[in-house]
This record gives sequence, structure tokens and C-alpha cells, in this order.
Amino acid sequence: MSTINCNNCNHVFSSESNYYSHYLTVHKSNSTSIKKILILGGGFGGITVLREIEKNFKKSKVEITIVSDENYFLFTPMLPQVISGLLHPSNISTPIRYFCKKAKFLQAIIESIDLDQQLVTIQRSFDNKMRALEYDYLVLALGGNTNYFKNHNLEKHSFSMKSIEDAIAVKNHIILMLEHAAQTGNYELQKMLLTFVVVGGGFAGVETISEINHFVRHSISKFYPSINPKNINIVLISSKERILPEINEELSKKAWESMEKAGINILKNTRADDAGEEFVMLNNGEKLPCATLIWTGGITMNNVVSELKCEHGESGRIVVDEILRMKNRENVFVLGDCALIKDSNLDSFYPSTAQHAIREGKLIVENLKALFKNEKKLKKFSFHSIGVMAIIGNRTGIATIRGYSIIGITAWLIWRAYYLAKIPTLGKKLKISVDWATDFLLTRDITLIGTIKKKKIHFIHITDNVPSIKQQLSSNLG
Ligand SMILES: Cc1cc2nc3c(=O)[nH]c(=O)nc-3n(C[C@H](O)[C@H](O)[C@H](O)COP(=O)(O)OP(=O)(O)OC[C@H]3O[C@@H](n4cnc5c(N)ncnc54)[C@H](O)[C@@H]3O)c2cc1C
Repeated sequence: MSTINCNNCNHVFSSESNYYSHYLTVHKSNSTSIKKILILGGGFGGITVLREIEKNFKKSKVEITIVSDENYFLFTPMLPQVISGLLHPSNISTPIRYFCKKAKFLQAIIESIDLDQQLVTIQRSFDNKMRALEYDYLVLALGGNTNYFKNHNLEKHSFSMKSIEDAIAVKNHIILMLEHAAQTGNYELQKMLLTFVVVGGGFAGVETISEINHFVRHSISKFYPSINPKNINIVLISSKERILPEINEELSKKAWESMEKAGINILKNTRADDAGEEFVMLNNGEKLPCATLIWTGGITMNNVVSELKCEHGESGRIVVDEILRMKNRENVFVLGDCALIKDSNLDSFYPSTAQHAIREGKLIVENLKALFKNEKKLKKFSFHSIGVMAIIGNRTGIATIRGYSIIGITAWLIWRAYYLAKIPTLGKKLKISVDWATDFLLTRDITLIGTIKKKKIHFIHITDNVPSIKQQLSSNLG
């Protein structure tokens, strides 16, 4: 951050601390009766908190603000189905404003958090101006970033799988590889273009490779007669002895067998150590020629979280107490992938999943309600999921529910029913059902969408609507 431009009054500051003292003396609101709840992050954690607050704080004197860098909530478990053209991207995303009745939404990048001053600095994307937001209660749900373990080549030459843009980019790239492969009779080149590698044996990796496998084989059989299907090479790289460590060993073995039968080549105890435009280098010294590498190999914290002055644990996540509060900060709640929460029953940490983020969000709002009623006793977090499930192929899934293991079409149907129920709006539920239903009748779409032009509007100078300091002092800017 070089200079800071206050968006309330246009003054420029050379440091964050100067800006904060200016904000606190000139702009800080004087109202103490209206409490401010600030939610950071519009993913599973942040949106659950927002929805629960909207339900439970209808009559309370409270100001709710949610900030996120995207204007939508993304339903990540269905992201792999966007790659395979099964679902339309907008059907798995819901605008955050849809959930805001009392709350205010700001699409902006969160730059930093000052826990002592109780201020969060955000940056507007169109003119890069900074703005400080005050809070009485802070809810931190900033998720995580893809972890490339500081390997620049892996980051540069692979796709990540976190956002809608990622899924669209991977889908486009796969189709482009099929178009290229259809035009070459060179065996080596065709094999390289038709090698699709996913790194990571967890849920995201397994579901992504399974969708790619089906999409590639299906599309080639329908539309690419000049491609020899024997040249297709779909590879999943797992650093562990087995895939899906969250499920029991027997089911993991069955999932492995089913995926291999469908044509996926799984490399166990293997790591990707390096990559270039046309290859991935494995830790056993093998150089695997491939034009498509997708990385789902773990998460790390973004700068806002890692620079916070608090206790950090495994992968840089924030250590919280049983109430889900940051240690020594009673008004800061942390949840989801950026929180490290100890499961005292198992003496381990709760996994980073959407299921957990949702449960944590619900508990935080229950405790906020109690705090607003001046109740002293707050609830501790305890949750044991009744099951986990994943899609591992065309009409094939695996699930463990209350200790029972299921594999095949039944698990696949349970997956669809469960996740469809979790989609937040009726409209999107209907659209997804239509996408799924038409898949029984129609072929997958192989339209190659070209580069999408994005016009940058940085550094626009708006001078005509900047209120005077006097006006700002008399009204809390929206
Ligand atoms: C492909 C894939 C498949 C998955 N499948 C499953 C599954 O089947 N089941 C399951 O339980 N879990 C699944 N997960 C994991 C699940 O998505 C995460 O555990 C969950 O999203 C965590 O929720 P969160 O709110 O902590 O973080 P996120 O959902 O990642 O939300 C973080 C939010 O913060 C915003 N943000 C971050 N930094 C900033 C910043 N500086 N400024 C502004 N905004 C910021 C982000 O844009 C985002 O909106 C999957 C994940 C992926 C990627």
C-alpha cells in the first residue's frame, strides 16, 4: 500500500496509521446505541452468518454490513460440474444482495484489519480509494487461497479450482485441447494434448477429475472422429497412499477401483514438483507430457488473514476458542476455512468443509443473539457430520452416512438430492434441476467461448459528489 486516499474526504495519507487516526478523529460515528456487525467474506461461512442474522435480528438496533470481493455466493461443491458443461455457471452462484434485507453489501477488496482500533480497510476497485469500516462485532470468513507451496512454476502453469472464472477457464481450455488434438496426426502431440492432470486426492480433486474424464470421453465419442480415444490420458495425482482421506479405507479403495475402471489413472504417493507449459515433473523423476494441469493441492491463507496479529496454527489458519472467537478478542468471530477449531472429543481439528462452515455460522449467530441480550453464557461449538459424499463418475457416487458405506447410483442420487436442497434459492434449484434433467437427453455443450474483454475503469476521479466533511460528520455514509 503506497498512499491511502480517504474515500470520505479525498485526503491522501502516507501510512495506514495516519489514515486511521484521521478516520477516528474526523469520520468515526458517534452513535453508541446502534451496534455494528461487520461480516468479511461472502462464501459459505459469511453467507450463513448473514442469512441467520437477517432472520434473527429483524427488530434489533443493529447495522449489518457484508464485504466480499465478488458480488455472488458460489456453491463450490457443484463447481466441477461447470467444467464438464453439466451446469451453467450462473446457476451455482447467487448474488449476495439477494440475501440482504437489512444488511448493506459492499463489493470491495479487504486490505487490512486493525483489531485494536476495530477498523477494517477496504479498497474500491474502480478508483482504488480506501475506506475504513468500523465494527463492534467482526465476523471473519475469508476462506483460503490455493496453496502452491511457493512453487512459482506450478502456479504459473496450472489452473486453480476455486472460482467461476477458474471453472470456465478450465472448460474452455479442455475444449481448445480437443480442437487442437483433432487436427494433428502426430501421435506424441495428440497424446500430450489429450493428457489432463489433476493434482490433489481430496474431494475437489476427485470430483474435478471425474467430471473431466466423462466430459472428454463423451465429447470425443460424439464430436471428434479424428481423435484416437486410446490417446486419452486422464491422471489424478495423490500425495497419499489413498484418495479421499475423509472416508474409510474400504470405501476409498472401492472409489479408486471404480475411477480406474472409468479410465482414470491414479498415481498414489506421488507429488508434482515442477511444471512447464507442456509437462509436469513428478517427484519420482518422471516428466509427464501434458498441456492441462489443474491444482487442488491444498489451501493457504491470504495476506489479510496471515498478517493479522493473532495466534495462527496449521496452514496459517486463525486459532479460535470453543465459542469460535479469536483468542483474547471477545468481539471477533472466525469461521470456515480460515479458522482452526479444535475438536475436543477427537483431540484433532475440525475439517475445512462447507458443512462445517455452515454449522459454525449458525452457532456464531446464536451467540451474537445471546450477547445482544447481555447473556453471559455462550454456546461451544461441537459438530459431528453424519456423513460425507462425492461424485466419482458418470452416475456414480460414494457416500458414508451414519457409518454405512454406499457406492454407485444410489450414492450419486443422494448427493444430488442433498446438495440441491442446500442451494439457497428456489430459482437456482429449478435451473439446476433443468440442467440435470436435460443431460439425460442432450449431448454436452462444446462451444468454445473466446476471451472475455473486461474494460478497466481504475482511477476514475469523481469530484462532483464528494460531500463536505461537515456533511459527513452529520451522516454516516452508506
Ligand atoms: C471445487 C471445490 C469443491 C468442494 N466440494 C465440497 C463438498 O463437496 N463439500 C464440502 O463440504 N466442501 C466442499 N468444498 C470446500 C468448501 O467450498 C469450503 O470448505 C467452504 O467454501 C469454506 O467456506 P468459507 O466461507 O470459509 O470460505 P469461502 O467459501 O472460500 O469464502 C471466502 C469468501 O471470502 C472472500 N474473500 C477472500 N479474501 C477476500 C478479500 N481480501 N477481500 C474481499 N473478499 C475476500 C471470497 O471471495 C469468498 O467470497 C469444495 C471446495 C472446492 C474449491
